[in-house]
Amino acid sequence: MPGFELWGAEERKEVNDVLETGILMRYGFDGPRKGIWKSKELEEAICKTFGCNYAQLVSSGTAALTTAISALGIGAGDEVIMPSFTFVASFEAVLSVGAIPVMVDIDESLTLNPEAVRKAITPKTKCVMPVHMCGSMADLDALQAICKEHNLILLEDACQSIGASYKGKMLGSIGDAGTFSFDFVKTMTCAEGGVVMTNKEDVYIKSDGYSDHGHDHKGADRGADLHPFIGYNFRISELHAAIGLAQIKKLDTFLSIQKKNHAQLKSILSTVPEISFRVIPDPNGDSCTFLSWFLPTEEITRAVVADLKEQGILAGNFYWYDNNWHYIRKWDHLKNSITLNALHPDLKQAVISNTSKNFAASDAIMSRCVSTAISLLWTDEQIAEKGNKIVATVKKVLAKQKATV
Ligand SMILES: *Cc1c(COP(=O)(O)O)cnc(C)c1O
Repeated sequence: MPGFELWGAEERKEVNDVLETGILMRYGFDGPRKGIWKSKELEEAICKTFGCNYAQLVSSGTAALTTAISALGIGAGDEVIMPSFTFVASFEAVLSVGAIPVMVDIDESLTLNPEAVRKAITPKTKCVMPVHMCGSMADLDALQAICKEHNLILLEDACQSIGASYKGKMLGSIGDAGTFSFDFVKTMTCAEGGVVMTNKEDVYIKSDGYSDHGHDHKGADRGADLHPFIGYNFRISELHAAIGLAQIKKLDTFLSIQKKNHAQLKSILSTVPEISFRVIPDPNGDSCTFLSWFLPTEEITRAVVADLKEQGILAGNFYWYDNNWHYIRKWDHLKNSITLNALHPDLKQAVISNTSKNFAASDAIMSRCVSTAISLLWTDEQIAEKGNKIVATVKKVLAKQKATV
């Protein structure tokens, strides 16, 4: 997920345009900004690149999710169905509006299992939030059908899958709204930033106001703006937008390098019959930020991960099952509903009971999964070396396993 790897003169130029005028804020100061509107320009580029009608830039992916959830009218007591494998931001955003995160199992796509979603629907369910993890997508046809049938909102957390698509449409542009993160390690970066994408005018207008204290942005005079509802400050700065503008112009380059490197690494790992790969609902749409692969058992996977670590080559290979940020198994703060300010007692109870459910189906997948991050800077030789070392390690562990059986 490495836009920062190709930092260069293009980013410096866009940032310098802003530094020249000194107008670092995205709204107002029409005269002194001398026609420099980086945030607006980036929003237009996002609409064009990802095929959505509207884009609202904000200060982070987390802010984008919170803004989208609010603009979609999701709040107190509403249940939002999301996967057991995601980034903590997904449930942080849901909790921040007083809604209830309902985690359900994933399948071998590493995203929502549609059958698990179906089973989790209650009269309180308001939204299904697939998270397109690690560069690839959830089964959106199945999820859209469920949402239609039950009259639910579909919100795509596409923060990790910028530039991925499903059946010809870009991820993030398919649901009622979708979000990207432009934090430092995402496919393209603003240093910090995020965006709400939608095809619905009302969701856009609400996102626009919500992310800037409820301002209606109707007049030229900011001080005279009306506030039809209460908002927050989730604004992006012109400096951050400038970086994103340089990065979005390079996105095609990032994606084509990722696809090439991913294919080369995959062909090396494919030589081991015991290695299988993540299910990709639309293989042509994979953004290829990660190659996610499975071994036959947790025991073998742990032995391979331990051996890679011992050799000093684990870096860039993620064993999410033991990770504190991405998988429910280690979200103790959530499971115990530990917050600084009191949650409504009903919400607190719902969080504790929803997270203490049985996630054996997810465990059976995540405990066998390793995701290898695809770098933009790898040479062909480096990919061959990395792939061969992984293959040798897996073969060594498998041979040992056989000897002891
Ligand atoms: C990165 C990420 C976010 C949040 O983005 P920030 O910009 O870091 O706040 C949300 N969801 C997922 C799946 C992410 O990977």
